Amino acid sequence: MADFPRSLLEFQQRFADEAGCAAYLAQTRWPDGFVCPECGHGKAWQLDTKAWTYECAQCRRQTSVTAGTVMHGSKLSLTVWFWGAYLMATHSNGMSARQLWRQLGLGSYKSAWLLCAKLRRAMVAPDRSPLSGLIEVDETAVTYRTRNDPLDGGQGRSHDGKMLVAGAVEIVGNRPGRVRLASIKDYAADSLHAFIQANIAEGATAKTDGWSSYPGAPGVTHEPHVVGNIAAHIVLPWIHRIFANAKTWSLGVYHGLRRKHLQAYLDEFVFRFNRRRSPHAAFRTLLSIGTAIKPATYNMLIAPEAKG
Ligand SMILES: [Zn+2]
Repeated sequence: MADFPRSLLEFQQRFADEAGCAAYLAQTRWPDGFVCPECGHGKAWQLDTKAWTYECAQCRRQTSVTAGTVMHGSKLSLTVWFWGAYLMATHSNGMSARQLWRQLGLGSYKSAWLLCAKLRRAMVAPDRSPLSGLIEVDETAVTYRTRNDPLDGGQGRSHDGKMLVAGAVEIVGNRPGRVRLASIKDYAADSLHAFIQANIAEGATAKTDGWSSYPGAPGVTHEPHVVGNIAAHIVLPWIHRIFANAKTWSLGVYHGLRRKHLQAYLDEFVFRFNRRRSPHAAFRTLLSIGTAIKPATYNMLIAPEAKG
């Protein structure tokens, strides 16, 4: 596996130009030399006419070093992609599009936003495995920001101006393991059971606050802790801490989340949390090197409900 720069300075030196980035991509994708994705042949020529593209000596298929990654077909340079992924993966709080726009000196806010959105889309591994073992499960409400209003919702108890989020975290020897967060439409059994089914492995034990919507969730053992007068953060300390961190993060980096893109932002938080000890693996995943995430267009990204 290709090694990774250990400092900002090393990163800057190694990925100073397109050639440095392309060499890293090629080395990471084909550690034992080029392999044609079409026929499996190992001999190819690098084309002079197309940047960082190989033509298979046997079947003549042309393969770009960025094919199958989030960078495929992008007008941005590889150095910009590498910096964007590095900052988003290694900065403990991540980066908003506005911050990236300024830090990378990009031409427009829209191209910074698109860069962020594409990287964020690579944050959910298509084959990720569900949480297992002992899991804390709970739900919370997050205030959202509208286009006109900097902050909406206030301190009210109703769900007006609030988005609902279900969360789950594996407990591994009193420490948090992996996390999942999902936007839900209400606190009804259907919504919470669907969350559990999508994110928690069969046979796991779900520890909850005893809310009436949890019992009967398919495939999991339910361990209710009826909270009553005991504060929920004592019974479910980790998921409460994660909710609090997510809220602080959303206010600090984004000044509140927008309803339309809530799930994408939750995915970003989860991605970083789950890779908090391996930012280099996070970088590789973000550029989707060696994985097959289909490139997304701008229109697909601004309409998150669109299938693509
Ligand atoms: Zn071939």
